[in-house]
Amino acid sequence: MVIKIPISLDSMKVDITCPKCGTENKVTLAQIRQEATVTCIGYGTVINLKDNDGSVKRGMRQVQNELDDLDRALRRFGRR
Ligand SMILES: [Zn+2]
Repeated sequence: MVIKIPISLDSMKVDITCPKCGTENKVTLAQIRQEATVTCIGYGTVINLKDNDGSVKRGMRQVQNELDDLDRALRRFGRR
């Protein structure tokens, strides 16, 4: 039995608040990781997605580790 967990962190959406007008914009974690630029849906302000302190990368790594643990646990379970 093989269980695949269909979770891709990169496609997860998060809300970021525009520094200019406070409008919430949805971006994917991939966009943040790649430090992409998005245009605010409010007034068209260009927002630079800078992962300044690396907290997004750290957080993603942590979640990914937990998913890997879960994956391993499920594999053990399936072998019983
Ligand atoms: Zn804005």
